[in-house]
Amino acid sequence: MTDLHRLSIRELSDGLAGAKFSSRELTEHYLKRIAKLDTQVKSYVTVTAEQALAQADAADAAIKAGTATALTGVPIAHKDIFCTQGIKTTAGSKMLDNFISPYDATVVAKGKAAGLITLGKVNMDEFAMGSTSENPFYGATKNPWNLEHVPGGSSGGSAAVVAADLAPFSTGTDTGGSIRQPASFCGLTGLKPTYGRVSRFGMIAYASSMDQGGPMARSAEDCAYLMNVMAGHDAKDSTSIEKDVDDYVANLNGTAIQGLRIGIPKQYFNVAGLDADVKARVEESLKKLEEMGATLVEIDLNMTEAYVPTYYLIAPAEASSNLSRYDGVRYGYRAENPVDLMDLYKRSRSEGFGAEVQRRILIGTYALSAGYYDAYYVKAQKVRRLIQQDFLKAFESVDVITAPAAPTTAYKIGANLSPVEMYLGDIYTIAVNLAGLPAINAPVGFDKDNLPVGLQLIGNYWSESQLLSVVHQYQQATDWHTKRAAIAEENA
Ligand code: GLN
Repeated sequence: MTDLHRLSIRELSDGLAGAKFSSRELTEHYLKRIAKLDTQVKSYVTVTAEQALAQADAADAAIKAGTATALTGVPIAHKDIFCTQGIKTTAGSKMLDNFISPYDATVVAKGKAAGLITLGKVNMDEFAMGSTSENPFYGATKNPWNLEHVPGGSSGGSAAVVAADLAPFSTGTDTGGSIRQPASFCGLTGLKPTYGRVSRFGMIAYASSMDQGGPMARSAEDCAYLMNVMAGHDAKDSTSIEKDVDDYVANLNGTAIQGLRIGIPKQYFNVAGLDADVKARVEESLKKLEEMGATLVEIDLNMTEAYVPTYYLIAPAEASSNLSRYDGVRYGYRAENPVDLMDLYKRSRSEGFGAEVQRRILIGTYALSAGYYDAYYVKAQKVRRLIQQDFLKAFESVDVITAPAAPTTAYKIGANLSPVEMYLGDIYTIAVNLAGLPAINAPVGFDKDNLPVGLQLIGNYWSESQLLSVVHQYQQATDWHTKRAAIAEENA
């Protein structure tokens, strides 16, 4: 079969179970596409062909033996932030260019246990700090819809591989929008789960109180399959929650759009910098949901102006603490010929980290330093609580809240926005992480340059099934999620 890459996860699962094709054929098909097309997209940092084929053979044996799960034999790409035993894990940094993890992240281990085939590790912004995946060490990943544009970030590689059909789905992480914004820029569905729903064990830390892994795929249904694997309590992550996991696939039709109250925050649609095409596509998608029976309710989220300053204090503060472990001594990059210990620390960190990571370490260290701690860090934590309360109040009168995923479509590669301009692009995603809520992006059309636009739906805590279900039903009634970039149409 030449078009295996066009099949949904459900079709792949059925096809493998029904022996229409083998996992080896499917895996070889993807490896061939990667070899031919990733020279243009540049999404993979590491391709693990040999291991993938060995896993595929084991999957084929399991299918024959009747011990397969729904996903046995289906390939996946992992963001290079998830530790993979025996395979390099860089987190997009020169600091970890030589790092081979001795263990698997829980998300990776669960994927293996479910029979998923790891095709490789994909590019990202360094340590997940950024919005473009223009990586200073591993190069810029391209947006499959237009190779002169970025795929978004930080999970830009995870988005690009799916949009170019170089993997059927992928893992991403979202600390401030890094699943939703690249999903939006690449025309995909991506789910950021409630904080604590997916284990962070073995996921390289950026801002630990907000980091959360989640699925990126073409449709809500495909995401649901991966959520069934990723979600759950993990004794190795004390912030993961002991709460029953839904069957996200079985629940896909569980929430009625009829009568669903969708909150539209007044403040969100007056943001300076909201692109007219983005606004129009989002409004059209809301109209469609209204036609399907939802009620649109205008709401207030009064803390909107505080989102960017609050996030850009707390995230760098946590990052400066998390990244202090990269000292050139224990593991990772080490500067050559140090004259003394201080020189080793200084040069290892100056040479091993890129500019944006260094900027955030400096901001965070400043905000946490004696004399500034109360004025910046503690104050930001208080504002964070107010932002959370703002959402909780809104959820008293609505079921879900809507927003664009990003104020614009994908930037041009090399656009070189100033840090503040770049940070302002996160306005619609970061409050969700500050509050720990789940949210989903769904593709809802294109701008005048044929770049995808995304709709974001924010849910109350633990409402992943509801979000997937609403998007699934929207996707049954529309076809935006089936559109493919030209490069995805190419055969290998
Ligand atoms: N763009 C945001 C940042 O740079 C979000 C990143 C993320 O979610 N990892 O912090």
